[in-house]
Amino acid sequence: MSQVEILHATFSPIDHDISRPENPSFFHDLENVTRANTNALVHDILSSPSPLRLNTEAAESPHHEENLFQSLPPVHIGHPEIHLRNGVMNASMMANDGEPDAEKAFFVADLSQVYRQHQRWVSCLPEITPYYAVKCNPDPYVLRLLAALGTGFDCASNGEISRVLSIGGVDPSRIIFANPCKANSFIRNAGKLGVDTMTFDNMDELYKVARTHPRAKLVVRILTDDTKSLCQLGLKYGAPLVTVPALLSKARELNLDVIGVSFHVGSGCYDPTVYSDAIARARYAFDMAKEAGFSFTLLDVGGGFEDASFEQAASVLKDAIEEHFPDRRNIRVIAEPGRFYVSKAFSLAANIIARRAPFSDSAEMTTGNDQPSVMYYINDGVYGAFNCILFDHQVVHPYVLSMNGSFHVPSSEPVCTSSVWGPTCDSIDCVCPKTELPSGLRVGDWLAFDNMGAYTVCAASQFNGFEVSNVVYTLGSGVVAAEVRSKLVAFAVEACGR
Ligand SMILES: *Cc1c(COP(=O)(O)O)cnc(C)c1O
Repeated sequence: MSQVEILHATFSPIDHDISRPENPSFFHDLENVTRANTNALVHDILSSPSPLRLNTEAAESPHHEENLFQSLPPVHIGHPEIHLRNGVMNASMMANDGEPDAEKAFFVADLSQVYRQHQRWVSCLPEITPYYAVKCNPDPYVLRLLAALGTGFDCASNGEISRVLSIGGVDPSRIIFANPCKANSFIRNAGKLGVDTMTFDNMDELYKVARTHPRAKLVVRILTDDTKSLCQLGLKYGAPLVTVPALLSKARELNLDVIGVSFHVGSGCYDPTVYSDAIARARYAFDMAKEAGFSFTLLDVGGGFEDASFEQAASVLKDAIEEHFPDRRNIRVIAEPGRFYVSKAFSLAANIIARRAPFSDSAEMTTGNDQPSVMYYINDGVYGAFNCILFDHQVVHPYVLSMNGSFHVPSSEPVCTSSVWGPTCDSIDCVCPKTELPSGLRVGDWLAFDNMGAYTVCAASQFNGFEVSNVVYTLGSGVVAAEVRSKLVAFAVEACGR
């Protein structure tokens, strides 16, 4: 039985058209609003005459929702901003119904953004197959969409391997176990599941692999310059080139197959010229392999790709590969991008649950004081989605999503230097130490944050009893939404048919 199902479009009488002037009193009208009927009739898409047809009428409506995968939340259609606003309005309705945690923070994930990044990848680096780094955001829709688009996957643990294989339709040969230091049991299990390609950077790992998965196809991870990156991974991983000949001769001795080289210039790489030096080092490793009697066939250029500098990085990489690997007939080039694919695809909406401000007649509030005078407390923080501030060295920028029942903040609104804090009782839980926000902002208003897709939701904890924020999915709008949908539907059919 297929798991592909379609939910009928649901409609609510609220006007969500973001291009129109706002109705500042929408919160007051909400009592008259009937909740969108989410229990709409479900029927099996395959039993309908044309299963892959996109209902274009429904596609026009942001209220349209559809269950493409039985085990996952529905997907919507429409610009992510519409869904940020819908979420705020739904929260308001739930609050009216007295539901606990009605104002819970939530993500909006725009799958069309992931799709667009893939198109960008393919157009700039057609020769390099991306193996998406699952740790960056193991979101079930992101994994399915990328699987549908034909990428591979970089997994670092048994858990990530199972997660990728469990979506169905992904052959284990499309996975690289790209953690150079693995538990014995993990290596054995990877072998059992048919995941053969794995990285190493030290002698002990070779003995472990010889014992637990002797048929593995090994990739030597070399150390490269990572000083131009937010997260320097060379502190922990990577074999210096001088150690490579000894590693290769040990592999020989143990009868292991080494098939290529990998590196990682560091995550959040802000100087793409480092790829050039890394490729030169990879060339040295290829030559050392030849000396040792191996003929390498895999060049893995790792991750580190940033949205803003992607085209520049791609061009540096292409030139360096052309220079150092002019004959690539027997070489497959892959990469392990993480951040590049998901960073911009997720936004987070958080509710202002508390405020600490000077009394209104106080002189502290007057403009000209550049120290934060108002503290806002929101319902997600560094123990949740904003762990990226601590672990991933990110700086986040809030903007006002709704204020005083309106999505429109007049440009005449005075601002005041403020700080934004998470909900836990720890003082490290500071989201934004200093920012300008409208002085009229109050408890119950909503802030939003863009670029929240990379290294956020995956490392969020429930410290202090605060739940991890949910995700609302959209396919985007227009032609791209239809394309993303048809990719996912085709994948669902294929994956379930296995
Ligand atoms: C984290 C990681 C990646 C992904 O890095 P990004 O900077 O997000 O592209 C790729 N490969 C390995 C081995 C990693 O550890």
